[in-house]
Amino acid sequence: MRHALAGHGASRGNALGRARVRLPHALEVAEEHVAAEAVEAELRRLHTAIDAVRVEMRNMRERLHGALAHEVGEFLDLHSLLLDDPELLQGLDDLVRKGRYGADYALRLQRDRLAAVFEGMDDPYFRSRVEDIDHVVGRVHAMLHKRDADLQGVAGEILVTDAIAPAELSQLQAQGVMAVVTAGGSALSHSAILARSLHLPLVVGAPLALQQVNDGDVLLVDGSSGQIIVEPNAADLRDYRARLRDEKRERKQLHRLRREPSRTLDGVDIRLWANAESREDVTGAHALGAAGVGLYRTEFLFLQRSELPDEEEQFRAYRDVVLGMTGRAVTIRTMDIGADKADRTGLALSDEPNPALGLRGVRLSLARADVFETQLRAILRASGYGPLRVLVPMISGREEVLAVASLLRRIARDLRSEGHEIAEHVPFGAMIEVPAAALALPCFIADVDFISIGTNDLTQYLLAADRGNDALGELYSPLHPAMLRLLHQVIRTARSRAKPVAVCGEMAGDAMLTPLLLALGLEEFSLHPATMLEVRRAVRAQRLDALRASAPALLRCRDRDAIERWLQRTPAAA
Ligand code: PEP
Ligand code: MG
Repeated sequence: MRHALAGHGASRGNALGRARVRLPHALEVAEEHVAAEAVEAELRRLHTAIDAVRVEMRNMRERLHGALAHEVGEFLDLHSLLLDDPELLQGLDDLVRKGRYGADYALRLQRDRLAAVFEGMDDPYFRSRVEDIDHVVGRVHAMLHKRDADLQGVAGEILVTDAIAPAELSQLQAQGVMAVVTAGGSALSHSAILARSLHLPLVVGAPLALQQVNDGDVLLVDGSSGQIIVEPNAADLRDYRARLRDEKRERKQLHRLRREPSRTLDGVDIRLWANAESREDVTGAHALGAAGVGLYRTEFLFLQRSELPDEEEQFRAYRDVVLGMTGRAVTIRTMDIGADKADRTGLALSDEPNPALGLRGVRLSLARADVFETQLRAILRASGYGPLRVLVPMISGREEVLAVASLLRRIARDLRSEGHEIAEHVPFGAMIEVPAAALALPCFIADVDFISIGTNDLTQYLLAADRGNDALGELYSPLHPAMLRLLHQVIRTARSRAKPVAVCGEMAGDAMLTPLLLALGLEEFSLHPATMLEVRRAVRAQRLDALRASAPALLRCRDRDAIERWLQRTPAAA
């Protein structure tokens, strides 16, 4: 009965609750009927969705032609065939026309019929084709709802699913879901970042969870170690309670540091900024003595909705962060939509062959000048309420820096002439997360006021390792000699021109890596408030002069093992 499953801890915290298993593409649709006069319209709705999925699949097939593994091609062919299958289509039409079922319910009934036929076959290959039916039906269903079929959660439950989108997480938490377990995913994905921000325990990369957990099973989830215990016994529950007590004790100890300076043993003050996405983050950042907000990811305002936030709404959100920080600087990052931060507003292109290398971040902003201008107006207006900086993501070269700087100047003029009170100077910074920008930093450092290094993406692009792909295991890691050298170079370039430089990727919030970043010359960190006190404790345990003296040894490390050994030799990691 009791068994344990392994995953990767992505957002810490312990949770005890009943499992709710969400199988991929499972359709949970209540029986619904349509009136006789609405039948034709319902059929049109259904066929429009089917046609759209057919086009989507054809495009995908064409795009991937030649680049596909043989079996994947077969899968896609099979999916297209299913969509053209007269039995499927006729069955659906009959269900709507004769049974007067709504399109969703007809889809569900037809799926169940076909699945029963396949499941009844002797050949295991055919039996496994139910997955394909679910895939195709799931796509049509999503298309019927313009892809906004939400995950539903129930208070006290732990959701077990194949994957989770950032936009779904906050909704689940609002519904009272205690934790999320996903079969795929990575601890460095945007969903994981958001889960940490929401303090929602998340375990990713637990492929067996979907097979071995049933609805209603009691689960014990440890978001740090990634362990999932199904039907915990008395000893597990005792351990769980002990862990909760330990957490409380540790929180108490750390709590004492909230008013202490982030100062090294040899007296150097390190600036700890906060990454903040929500009102709670801002409150936490303030209470923990953050230097300010070093990264406010504005795309979260855009992701959970089908219409774009207007200038007023954005202005109020940015202004409230500025007011919440009572005079400490707030760094608003312009929207970084695209790649794994897909939206429903339709801003990000949905059919990009390679979205991580596509129209995301500043590229999308410059391509959608209307949307970008609205955002910049809102940000600049918020600067009238307290110190504010603008940070631009995914910069790859000087042209983009100059384009945004010139837009900012023009919009500031417009706003002033409209009578708005905005700051005289709004510092403007570039995120360094594309290797080209890191290498070409000397070409545009004079054009920016500060630099923030996005190590999440910089690692992904430098190592050609998808940040969301769990199959890559340890390949996606900043502990690579190339990454350390590049970080060192960027920090040195910025410091030699007296430009403030921070790291705002997840690396900055990992207290185990604090000595490494300090050794590389970093004096500004931007991290989630949940990790601020641990990093402060790590900073306070270091002598900066000794660390800097050991930087050459760190930079000589030839592989990950050597870097880890260097870390083990430093006191804070002990
Ligand atoms: C990063 O890439 O390190 C970063 C901070 O930006 P995001 O994680 O939002 O892509
Ligand atoms: Mg990034």
